Amino acid sequence: MSERAVCKCGAVIWWARTIPGGRPMPVTVPAEGQSGSLAVRRDGSGSLVCRQLKAGGELEPGEHTGRAHWADCPHAGDFRG
Ligand SMILES: [Zn+2]
Repeated sequence: MSERAVCKCGAVIWWARTIPGGRPMPVTVPAEGQSGSLAVRRDGSGSLVCRQLKAGGELEPGEHTGRAHWADCPHAGDFRG
């Protein structure tokens, strides 16, 4: 599975594994003015992983803000199976 993909809705998404859980999650880079509740980074093997940020939580060094694409996508049902 390629990390970078284009969703049916046209958005560029990145597949990251959740921590904990290790489940694939479609993530977008928040647009200006959008919030993101995910912290995304590469793990030691170079794989993209993400974790849920707690309310008011801060990013750790090397992490970037991400946003679950489920929140925005008109095709969100397709991801859940
Ligand atoms: Zn989409």
